[in-house]
Order: sequence, then structure tokens, then C-alpha cells
Amino acid sequence: MDKYWAALEQTDPDIAGLITGEAKRQAQTIRLIASENYVSEAVLAATGSLLTNKYSEGYSGKRYYEGQQFIDPIEDLAVQRAKDLFGVEHANVQPYSGSPGNLAVYLAFLEPGDTVMGMALPSGGHLTHGWSVSATGRWFRAVQYGVRRDNHLIDYDEMRDLAIKEKPKLIWAGGTAIPRQIDFSIFAEVAREVGAVFAADIAHIAGLVAGGAHPSPVPHADVVTTTTHKTLRGPRGAMAMCRTEHAKALNFAVFPGLQGGPHNHTTAAIAVALKEASQPDFKDYAHQIVANAKALAAALTERGFDLVSGGTDNHLILIDLTNKGVFGKPAAKALDRAGIELNYNTVPFDPRKPFDPSGIRLGTPSVTTRGMKEPEMEQIAEWMDRVISNPEDDDLTKKVSAEIHELCRSFPAPGTITG
Ligand SMILES: *Cc1c(COP(=O)(O)O)cnc(C)c1O
Repeated sequence: MDKYWAALEQTDPDIAGLITGEAKRQAQTIRLIASENYVSEAVLAATGSLLTNKYSEGYSGKRYYEGQQFIDPIEDLAVQRAKDLFGVEHANVQPYSGSPGNLAVYLAFLEPGDTVMGMALPSGGHLTHGWSVSATGRWFRAVQYGVRRDNHLIDYDEMRDLAIKEKPKLIWAGGTAIPRQIDFSIFAEVAREVGAVFAADIAHIAGLVAGGAHPSPVPHADVVTTTTHKTLRGPRGAMAMCRTEHAKALNFAVFPGLQGGPHNHTTAAIAVALKEASQPDFKDYAHQIVANAKALAAALTERGFDLVSGGTDNHLILIDLTNKGVFGKPAAKALDRAGIELNYNTVPFDPRKPFDPSGIRLGTPSVTTRGMKEPEMEQIAEWMDRVISNPEDDDLTKKVSAEIHELCRSFPAPGTITG
């Protein structure tokens, strides 16, 4: 794989063998997990570099350790590229991942016990937007909006009424299972009305925003947080972006508020991914993700699948399997045996529990990165339909798995081992 690989095989054949197994698995199966992607080999190289050896608490030009001759320019590049790509005044690229990045927003703007408003997890929100089991739901007073029963779209009226009644200090937009465009301007208006900070969490859609395939929250939000490893196609990491007026508070919340030394290998890989995302072909990728999702949604609808909100505007599809007579978990497990990975998921107003819900969630970022287009989406819908109609049929699963392996050969994924 790279120049360090022989050393790993020598030192630890167990781990080397398992990584090889995963590299083959990633090559030979169709990945529809909406939050995953394949990073480029350039991003892999930066992630696996010796930058992992370096401590650099603080920010560029103001570090607590010496020897930052190369680290400072690396972080400067990542920050500048984030600012250019998203059109923001300030970017912090140090959060270890999306969840700590969001926690930094709380630390920057709230005191424990203050009121926060986010979308409820079962409606498609994220744990860190005030869900009860999360620190954000335990240490803050969380109120939650949802989606409308009739069309499964964000209930902007409920959100506004709740904000006026509960006076949150912080309002979140964004989530993990929202198949439709988010109107950030409505959130901004409500936040202004009640004097709240408006934070847009674009973890899932950052690549679409960067590529012009989803409206940007930047003109509307006080803070924008994102992971870097979903549609944005970088390493596992996160960024928090804002206008200059909040820069100091946000930086101080990330370090020293929540974290110690930044992960410099990740920072370098974020810089590489942001450079890739600023190239013209990234726009094509972003738009193809949406075109693929729409094609897959249409092909699934044709086969009688019940899509939450009736379709998709972005990379993500949520399916209620109730009418198919199968629950989300057995469907996801049968698909995994057949070589299609996705996750079981609650659907809005799900009568079933999160660990055994009524639906499945899927997305097209990974298959788009591999170069698959509309004809392959039709084929994937066909396979899904066959497997979900006969989840216990092992012969069918084997047959589909072989067909999928064959298709995957024609669409190699970066960094994997095609076999
Ligand atoms: C994935 C995600 C996060 C958290 O990211 P992690 O890196 O897994 O901690 C936060 N918010 C949203 C909306 C997400 O989709």
C-alpha cells in the first residue's frame, strides 16, 4: 500500500492482515452508508504520515512547543483553504471529530443549564444537538423540534413556536437523516427573533455545499460546523467556522477549552482534501451524488419502496420498510450478506425502537466516488429489491454477492485492493 506497509507486516502481521481484509472488503462491496466515503490516496498518505509524532498545542504562531517550522504552515494552509472554499471569515480545523467540534460551540456560547434547541434524533437530528443521552442533553436544557407528520419535512412552524416559547440561547440546524434541502434562512430569522446563536451543522452535506449542490448556510449562520470525512471526502476530523466576531470565543473553546494538541496528520490531510474539493471535478462529483441519489430513489420507488418525504434532494435516502413486511435490521443484515452495506434507522414517528427500527438509511457519496452513475443506481435498486423481498434466501444472497463483486471490479475505490 505505501512505503511503511512492509514494516507493519513485519511488526504486526495480525493487524496488517486485518487491514488487508478490510481493504478488500471495501473494494468488493457496494457501500451505501450515507456518512462514509473513500478518501484519495493523497489524503491517505497525509493521514498516515509522521506528522502524528508532533505536539503543537495552541494555534499557528502561538504554540506551547517548539519545532513548529512545518506544522504552522500546514495548519495555515488548511485554514486558508477552508476559508476560501466555504467563503467564511474564520475557520478552526482542530476539532478531533464532529462531536467535539459541536461541543466547542456549546462551550463558546452557553453556560451549563442554558437552553439549546435542535432537531430530535428520531426526526433526523444528531446526538450532539441536545439528545437526552448526550452530554449536550444532560448538561444543557434541551428542547427539540421535529418533522411534519404529513410530509416528513422539517416543521419550521413548530421550530419557530418552540423558539419563541422556550427562548433558546443556541439553535441547531442539520442532522444525520434529512433527505431534503434545509432552508437555513428560516433558522436565521428565528434565531434573530429570539436572540439565539444560530449554528448550522453541515457534517453530512459539506461536500454538497462545497460543490454547489446544496445551498450554503454561511450567509445565514453565526457558526457552521462540519465533519471532514463524509461528503467532503477528507480524513476523520472536523472544522468550526464563523465570522471574525466569534473567532476568539470559538478558538478558545476548542483549545484550551476542550482539547490538547491538534492531530497534525489529520490537519494536513484536511488541507489536502480541501484542495481537492476546490478543483472543478469536485463540483461534478457533488452534483453526481445528488443525481445518483435521485436515480436510486426513483428506481426504488418504482419497486414499491416507501421513501420518507417521498424522495431526496441530497445524497441521502430514508426508507420505511413497513409496507415490505420486513424490519430495518434484518433487511440491513441480509443486504450486508449480499454485499450492500447500509444502516438500519428509525423513520419519523417510528413505533419501533432505535436498535430494531422500521427503516434503513442509505446514501450515494461512496458509490459516486467510485464513478458509478445512473445505470448502476438502477442495478443497485434491483439487487436491493431482490434481497429485501427474500431476506432469508441464502442462495439468492450468494448469487447477488457474486454479481456485486463483479460490478465492483469495474469501479475501483481509491486506496483499496481490487480482487
Ligand atoms: C456525523 C455527524 C456528527 C458527528 O461526527 P463524529 O465525527 O462522528 O463525531 C455531528 N453532526 C452531524 C449532523 C453528523 O452527521
